[in-house]
Amino acid sequence: MTGALRARGSRPGAPPPGIREEEWRDWRWQMRHRIRSAEALRAWIDPHEDELRAIEALSQRFHFVITPYYASLMDPDDPECPIRRQVVPRLAELHDPLGEPDPLREVEHSPVKNVIRVYPDRIAFCVNNECALYCRFCLRKRMVGEPSWSMRRRELEEALGWIETTPEIRDVLLTGGDPLVFTDDRLDWLLGRLRRIPHVEIVRLGTRLPVTLPFRVTEGLCRMLERHHPLWLNTHFNHPRELTPEAAEAVDRLSRAGIPVGNQSVLLRGINDDVHTMRALCEGLVRMRVRPYYCYQAQLLEGTAHFRVPVERGIELFHALRGRTSGFAIPRYVLDTPGGKVPLEYPYLRGREGDRVVVETWDGSLWREPNPLD
Ligand SMILES: *Cc1c(COP(=O)(O)O)cnc(C)c1O
Ligand code: SF4
Repeated sequence: MTGALRARGSRPGAPPPGIREEEWRDWRWQMRHRIRSAEALRAWIDPHEDELRAIEALSQRFHFVITPYYASLMDPDDPECPIRRQVVPRLAELHDPLGEPDPLREVEHSPVKNVIRVYPDRIAFCVNNECALYCRFCLRKRMVGEPSWSMRRRELEEALGWIETTPEIRDVLLTGGDPLVFTDDRLDWLLGRLRRIPHVEIVRLGTRLPVTLPFRVTEGLCRMLERHHPLWLNTHFNHPRELTPEAAEAVDRLSRAGIPVGNQSVLLRGINDDVHTMRALCEGLVRMRVRPYYCYQAQLLEGTAHFRVPVERGIELFHALRGRTSGFAIPRYVLDTPGGKVPLEYPYLRGREGDRVVVETWDGSLWREPNPLD
């Protein structure tokens, strides 16, 4: 195939000419036809020199994988397209003196493999190291797509055993990677096991599949999930162009299964760090009945300096939304730290010390985050 498949025709999110609707809407077909090379990418966009060189230079550093559905949302001619920049490598990833592999020190906070405990009553449980595609700003770059971080049945059992013997845990957040990349059967088994633990009151799913592979959210999946209530789900839309009819349909199915759907986005330079875009995202989400929950300051994560903005800029942005849109359309702007998430507002935000922003975490300790002003 030469030239951009979708440029010459179909709507973003819809199958391009030559692909049948049933195939396109089959999540397994999407998984099998994922883009993993510059050559495959050329079917969708005209890659820029910088992107081509970055795909080669970064091939050993962080996986390059995109679903056909998400590729169909990309602007074939604009390298600064907000969809492209989330998933196509750029040479800027090679210039990040501050970035670290594990800025939240999650490994140090793991009582057992892939369980991260920062708070007394709740955990993040990375049940799966796979995703449908890999985001260039992913916080868990160190583990996603890496076989050594996958969870075999025995390792899942060990983690479940730890939860069973830790009665303070009332809230379990299943994350990854992406838990919805599991088959329905495996997820059903896991949720069933968690539901049998009396002190686990709620289970949450953290998944980007409504955004990157909405066809995964089948009626069958939703029928299975609704047997395990109370379930909550947070997804991860970053840009209004991701709010397609296909994504809206996926979210609607989840909502009709009684699952409250929230959104956690990341504030990304040149993607959603202006008032107009953020407002369009947040208002589009509430039209889909998705509640904007958190917007994260981009972490000091290796290869992501080009995505970070000064904290002051993010504060101004969310300040500009207040009063100008529905209160529940405005997410909490937070910084995640090894000591937990901190709202970037009084009294948690203590000020600046040169290039560092000083915040106080929930347990009263201070954290100094390097965050240069422009
Ligand atoms: C984000 C997170 C949670 C959940 O935090 P909430 O503020 O309750 O949404 C729990 N554990 C870890 C390790 C987390 O990173
Ligand atoms: S979907 Fe989430 S976990 Fe997976 S690569 Fe993207 S940000 Fe990382």
